[in-house]
Amino acid sequence: ERKQLHRLRREPTRTVDGVDIKLWANAESREDVAEAHAQGAAGVGLYRTEFLFMHRPPELRRTLPDEEEQFRAYRDLVLGMTGRTVTIRTLDIGADKADESGLALTGEPNPALGLRGVRLSLSRTDLFRTQLRAILRATGYGPVRILVPMVSGREEMLAVRALTRDVQRELREQGHAIAESVPIGAMIEVPSAAIALQTFIAETDFLSIGTNDLVQYLLAADRTNEALGDLYSPLHPAVLRLIYDVIRAARTHRKPLAVCGEIAGDPMFAPVLLALGLEEFSLHPGTLLEVRRAVRALDHSALRARAATLLRARDRAGIERWLARVAV
Ligand code: PEP
Ligand code: MG
Repeated sequence: ERKQLHRLRREPTRTVDGVDIKLWANAESREDVAEAHAQGAAGVGLYRTEFLFMHRPPELRRTLPDEEEQFRAYRDLVLGMTGRTVTIRTLDIGADKADESGLALTGEPNPALGLRGVRLSLSRTDLFRTQLRAILRATGYGPVRILVPMVSGREEMLAVRALTRDVQRELREQGHAIAESVPIGAMIEVPSAAIALQTFIAETDFLSIGTNDLVQYLLAADRTNEALGDLYSPLHPAVLRLIYDVIRAARTHRKPLAVCGEIAGDPMFAPVLLALGLEEFSLHPGTLLEVRRAVRALDHSALRARAATLLRARDRAGIERWLARVAV
């Protein structure tokens, strides 16, 4: 069984009816990157840079990684993927991402609704410029995309784009060899961004749905609170409907779109995501081969034809019955 899975490392992620699905890796450590490369990931779909800020070596405790330290980490990531695209997410510290750097505010009454993600970056443009400089310098070593967390609407994308342009100009003036252009994408994980996507999709080059937070904010259910049990679940009709709408908008506007929340790494959800029209998954490399195996057993057109039935399910039990019927 393990051996059979191992053999899939060099196989395409193709459904039985011949549709190619792109599997990106979520990676934060050197080990993840090596594993992603070995399993045949299309690239890194989510590199969570907060890990550089949160997990400091003991001697660097309570310091922030400076431009050089960040640059080396991003460059090594790019080199480790040998020409496959890497998607570097700008700092998303705060709320469930506990912080020992002292950067995130403490004592916020509602940290999940507080100054986190791109909000924190735009309120500390000194730190944000340092991070953008480090990321942009890494674009000289291979294909890089920039992903912005916790976008709630158009203003944030415009602000990030303007800052990026400014930092690109500054780096060129200083003689750095950086890429001509860098794609900038938005995480779709705040409900307002999903619902009002048309208002700023033109300001994005690609999209990535963060279902971990999208489920939390849409259902008002803390992603870390185990007392909520089944309430925190992607198998809610509102969640599926919103994912479906975002996928359709991305297709209309020809924007590449992945799902990078935990559901992308669970083979059980693969039929649901394919039915909704998803063609790119970003997942922890540890389950990449299992998801590849699941996708290779699924019939894309048959699932697409059952999307309407899935979207008509009225509750979790109904969605689970749909899943049981399409299960292979
Ligand atoms: C998400 O919210 O789904 C996501 C992928 O980001 P994180 O888990 O880092 O918040
Ligand atoms: Mg998130």
